[in-house]
Amino acid sequence: MSTTSPSQPGDRSRAICESCNGIQETVIERRDVPLDDGSGTAQNALAAICTDCGDIIAMPAQDLNIVPTS
Ligand SMILES: [Zn+2]
Repeated sequence: MSTTSPSQPGDRSRAICESCNGIQETVIERRDVPLDDGSGTAQNALAAICTDCGDIIAMPAQDLNIVPTS
């Protein structure tokens, strides 16, 4: 029996990076992440970063602090 802990900065995993076109190691870091639709920025959000190219691969489920784009 194990409990699922939320992602923490520094956590490492593996995921498919579209920029690298393959499976890469990822590390969780806090970033200001622009929203896909351009409506704002998620400040200080946890994101899974590709350790090879630095792109954001995924964002774990979390409460986002959205700052609207002015
Ligand atoms: Zn990559």
